[in-house]
Amino acid sequence: MVIIGFTHFDELLSALRKRDYTVIGPVARDGAIALDVILSASDLPKGCHDEQQPGSYFLRHEEDEAIFGYVVGPQSWKKYLYPPRLKLFSAKREGKGFEIVSDSATPSPKYAFLGVRPCEIGAIKINDSVFDGGQYSDARYVSTRKDACVIAVNCTRPAGNCFCVSMNTGPRATHAFDLALTEICENGTHHFVVDVGSELGQSILEDVTHRQAEKNEIERALDLLSTSAAGMCKSLETEGLPQLLNDNYEHPEWDDVAKRCLACANCTMVCPTCFCSTVDDITDLTGDHAERWRRWDSCFTSDFTKIAGGNIRMSTRTRYRQWMMHKLAHWHDQFGTSGCVGCGRCITWCPVGIDITHEAQHIRETSISTINS
Ligand code: SF4
Ligand code: SF4
Repeated sequence: MVIIGFTHFDELLSALRKRDYTVIGPVARDGAIALDVILSASDLPKGCHDEQQPGSYFLRHEEDEAIFGYVVGPQSWKKYLYPPRLKLFSAKREGKGFEIVSDSATPSPKYAFLGVRPCEIGAIKINDSVFDGGQYSDARYVSTRKDACVIAVNCTRPAGNCFCVSMNTGPRATHAFDLALTEICENGTHHFVVDVGSELGQSILEDVTHRQAEKNEIERALDLLSTSAAGMCKSLETEGLPQLLNDNYEHPEWDDVAKRCLACANCTMVCPTCFCSTVDDITDLTGDHAERWRRWDSCFTSDFTKIAGGNIRMSTRTRYRQWMMHKLAHWHDQFGTSGCVGCGRCITWCPVGIDITHEAQHIRETSISTINS
């Protein structure tokens, strides 16, 4: 491991730009941490710390000048790998037919994702299996992902809704990064303990002033991460969870949650692994030009489950149950893993504070199969 001082952070950004990366990272915007283009270290949200509780989020400022003193905001890297709105193709009238121009394979910029949290690496891995793991792959996702550089940031402080330890995704990045930084910001010093995860990471490091980490510095970083793991106040018991949910398909909790859920779809929009989409076809007034756009949709919207013959999920009860069971049960059947990485976004950004960990725990404690046995 090596040490990069905060004063040399701009060299890291230059090293990325020199390799033609567009650097995307956290910025403070509209009272939250958002993701956007980073041109210099001064764009990063210095001294910002987030407070997250079910249905509540705010940023406060501290004098510690930490540049990664918060965890995940409402946006995730999905925004860049799988954009909220994407033109798939256009069609232009040519005589009696149409000429089709495919737009979805248009290359996106080469991104360097700066500040990817360990749970988000887990989410990207899940995105990989969805968009590039089967018979059909998403060409744009595959090319954007292949070109992306991942600079991870380990979490030295969990937010109130994090439960990555339960999902085995954090708070330390263990794989699928180029560089992973642990920020140490105490006693007047401010530096990063850096783990190198790839040849690309090693070559980037060669352009940045650094030195070998001392044993005590590595121990301090590991100590901060252990304290962070131990301080996580939320958890999800995953043992036997898919079977438990399958056994409780008619549990009364689904009615109870439906009384609280607004079916607003916030949880699905902020979730880094939700991938439902729909398409919109648009034509101009002359009928000579048409376009097909893909946009994010949600299993909570009424249109999403409308098929020939009617709507297969008419109630909020069935929609919430579909969402939660897909995340925690059926995802295992489809992709061999949970669909949840424990980032806590769906809890924070739910306007009524519905908490997936509480819902699962309540079903476990009052399981129909247990009561009936
Ligand atoms: S279900 Fe919630 S906690 Fe799990 S990955 Fe999605 S947003 Fe994060
Ligand atoms: S669980 Fe919360 S965020 Fe999700 S649809 Fe219901 S009210 Fe909206």
